[in-house]
Order: sequence, then C-alpha cells, then structure tokens
Amino acid sequence: MNLGKTKAAMWVEEPTGDFLKVGFRADKVLFSGKSEFQSVDVIETRGHGKMLLNDGLVMLTERDEFIYHDMITHVPMFTHPNPKSVLVIGGGDGGTAREVLRHKGVESVVMVEIDGMVVDACKEFIPQTASDLSNPKLELIIGDGVDYVATTKKKFDVVIVDSTDPIGPATPLFGTEFYQNIKNILNDDGIVVSQAESPFYFAETQQSLLGIIGGLFPIATIYNFNNMGYPGGFWSFTFASKGPHPTKDFKAARVKESGLDFGYYNEDIHHAAFCLPSFQKRNLAEKIKG
Ligand code: SAM
Repeated sequence: MNLGKTKAAMWVEEPTGDFLKVGFRADKVLFSGKSEFQSVDVIETRGHGKMLLNDGLVMLTERDEFIYHDMITHVPMFTHPNPKSVLVIGGGDGGTAREVLRHKGVESVVMVEIDGMVVDACKEFIPQTASDLSNPKLELIIGDGVDYVATTKKKFDVVIVDSTDPIGPATPLFGTEFYQNIKNILNDDGIVVSQAESPFYFAETQQSLLGIIGGLFPIATIYNFNNMGYPGGFWSFTFASKGPHPTKDFKAARVKESGLDFGYYNEDIHHAAFCLPSFQKRNLAEKIKG
C-alpha cells in the first residue's frame, strides 16, 4: 500500500502501471498484514468507508461494493433457470457469497479463498461484506481455487471467479486449464462469470479471457458495470455458459418474483450491461460467441 502523507492529510494511492494513480483520503489504518500470498490492508477512508487492499490494490470500499457484488452475482444467478449449487473462487471479503446466499433456491455454496488473512481481516473490520461467512449453507475452504477445480468431485450450476488481478496466486485463474476444469465441474446448463478487468486499460486481458472461454463454451461474452473504486471506474465480467444465454434466455419476471431488492442491479441493467461500447466491441469482435 502506498500511503502518501502531507502535513494535513493521509492518502492511499493506487498506481496502475506507470501512468495512472488514484488517491483516496485516509483517516486511519485499521489493519496491515503480510500473508504468504500478499499484503492485506484495511483503511478507514474519508469518503468511501472502509477499504480493503491486497498488495496495495483496491479490492473494495464499503460505499460502492454493492455495485461489484450485485453484478458479479445476480447476472448469472438470474440467467440460470434454477441455480442450487454455487462455487465462488476467491471473494475472501464475503460480498459475493453474501449476495449468492440471498437467493432462496440456493442449497449450497462452496467458497475457496487462498488467503485466510483476507477472510479474518474482513470478518473483524468489514462485517458489511463478511456478515454471511458463517451461514450454514456455506462451506468456506481456505485453499487454492486452481487445485480445487482440478480435484473436486462436486458439480455446480454457477461458478463465480471473484479474483484479484492476474498477478501472484491469481495468475492461473486467467488461464485455459483453469477454465477447462471449471467446464468439467459445471452441470449441463452451467454458467461461469469472472472478474475481467477494465475494457479501457486492460483490453489485452479481456481478449485473452474471451479467447479462452470462447474456445471452451458455446456462449462466451462480456458485460460491464461502473464503480468508483477501480482505476477508471469502468469494469467488466466475462460470462460463459453451457446453455442459457444471458439476454435471450433471461426471464425478467424472475427478478420481481425473487422479492430481492438491489442497489445497482435490476432487469434493465441486466440487459444493458451486455451492450458494449464500440471500442470494446472492436477489440473483442472475433471472440464473442453465442
Ligand atoms: N473485488 C475484488 C477485485 O476485483 O479487486 C476481488 C475481491 S477478493 C478480495 C479477491 C480474492 O481472490 C483475494 O482475497 C485473493 O486472495 C483471492 N485469490 C487470488 N488467487 C486465488 C486463488 N488461486 N485461489 C483462491 N483465491 C484466490
């Protein structure tokens, strides 16, 4: 974490490459640790509530985490006709598991997070996201998601890859073998969505991910959302499916029937998220399938 201090103020600064730096006014460092995988920090910010950083990169802020967690969760959960078993890879802050568990039809969730320090820090300092990590439907495994998908005998309706950027232990989460293994453990109408970086700053990562899932699944596409915490604010998730199409098979009525309310997600956003700006369409034109 880069803590820039001036006489008057403390700032958390997140660099992107050597060309961009985003700063958040910080009031207090609540937790600072180094696990065998990464550094983990929790900061009380002035404008965004508590913030989690891994290796100095913003994972979430309390103020806008609902956007990311709504979109990574409810898009696949409302596309799949009846998701009962869900696997979350990463997601140690608990926000994705919290949203999955709001779906009444869900019978079991497995969450595989490599770093126990992230989970413990969030349980202690960010209960807003970690509140449901003791839910009896949730099996929390502290381990490598890459190994888990290669070895588990369980099958899933929805897999959500809520990972850090493709560095350190998350690097293989952006590779072909990982997605081949996910395909093997998905049921026939299964869906996998993944954190897919910025269409603007990480266009090559998006090309690579789309190429991988497009080579394995009949439906492979990408959808966007805006948040305040990540560089540029404009971000994406990839979507791959063995069956259900994210817009053609989406039954909007199910959203109302669920009785759930959301801060960001709704029936219109579900459709709109798959409408891509021209520069991103051009970048991915060859790779989008279905
Ligand atoms: N919303 C966040 C973002 O996109 O910046 C991601 C949040 S969550 C904190 C990401 C988690 O993925 C981290 O806690 C990290 O430890 C975990 N992770 C990274 N590589 C992993 C792996 N191979 N298996 C399981 N979890 C992994």
